[in-house]
Amino acid sequence: MSEIKLVFDEIKPKKKAPEHLADLTIAERREKAESLGLPAFRANQIATHYFTHYNEEPDSWSDIPAAMRPLVAEHFLPKLLTPIRQVECDKGKTRKDLWRLHDGVLVETVLMRYKDRTTVCISSQAGCGMNFCATGQAGLTRNLTAGEITSQVAAAARACASGELPGGPTRLSNVVFMGMGEPLANYNAVMKSVRNIITPQPDGLGIGARSVTVSTVGLVPGIEKLTQEDLQITLAVSLHTPDDELRDTLVPVNSRWKVKEVLSAADKYVAMTGRRYSIEYALIRDINDQKWRADLLGRLLKNRHAHVNLIPLNPTPGSKWTASRKEDEIAFVKTLEKYGVPVTVRDTRGREIDGACGQLAAANKA
Ligand code: SAH
Repeated sequence: MSEIKLVFDEIKPKKKAPEHLADLTIAERREKAESLGLPAFRANQIATHYFTHYNEEPDSWSDIPAAMRPLVAEHFLPKLLTPIRQVECDKGKTRKDLWRLHDGVLVETVLMRYKDRTTVCISSQAGCGMNFCATGQAGLTRNLTAGEITSQVAAAARACASGELPGGPTRLSNVVFMGMGEPLANYNAVMKSVRNIITPQPDGLGIGARSVTVSTVGLVPGIEKLTQEDLQITLAVSLHTPDDELRDTLVPVNSRWKVKEVLSAADKYVAMTGRRYSIEYALIRDINDQKWRADLLGRLLKNRHAHVNLIPLNPTPGSKWTASRKEDEIAFVKTLEKYGVPVTVRDTRGREIDGACGQLAAANKA
């Protein structure tokens, strides 16, 4: 098993990303407009263009005087994401976008259209310092700002609305913080982004809180803080094994917060919000897919409000692990069902374009 270094300290960018509308609260947006010599109501117009029409080109806005537009563009809508490359699979229904940030750092976003919903998987950090996935291999580069995170969602909403995905125009319905990075290690920017995502239009993107998922490797203080927000967003915990011995090696933060502590923090999230949480479990052949582990997981979860998402392991460079045998996966599901634990097997969307769970690693592929 490869050795993983835990990174809690972020590497500060040389120069912070320019301040964006999405970095500010509604009140701050109005204050900023005034500080630039604009009437406060201009802030609401700007927000409407950005969050309702997904339009970030003030030059095309007829309700803002032409002379005012360059100022608005510079101070409210600096270009935070430059598209570098787009790759698709599933006949265009899955698409991975590679973006360059203002300081040259690269991040990826994956957009997936299903029959009944369209989901964007966004990044909260460039690189990661926590998990065994491809993102973590290069370590953590830096936290993203709320503007940079929200802009990924706005770009996805625009792609959906403008009919870029096969099947015609649609609405972006779900957002998952399951791309690069550990969202709870970039707490403030992630929470600001969540508020931008769930605040009704025109001040936010108006996506239902229940359709937003924050996935964590198990940072207990972060889960506790999230609980206090009392929002209806979905919490996902990347557990990957029910026993501390193996989890210490798979997910190194387990040396700080053990399986039982993580689950009890998640239980409190349920008590506060009434929302069932999900347990993410990448099935790795002969590592964590044994019958006894399924039994242990079933016993741990049978009286909890949790749903298990089994993820067939996706290939990542240099890893000696592979996905479980089909029969072991089926047996794992059956065992959990025997305990009455709700379980689903996640599809491997985006595997062909290195866009599936655990595969995002923009830094290695510039
Ligand atoms: N840092 C957060 C968000 C990332 S979510 C977290 O860990 O929850 C990405 C999910 O994919 C995590 O559950 C991660 O453990 C899982 N994963 C990592 N590598 C994988 C792989 N090779 N195949 C399938 N899933 C993987």
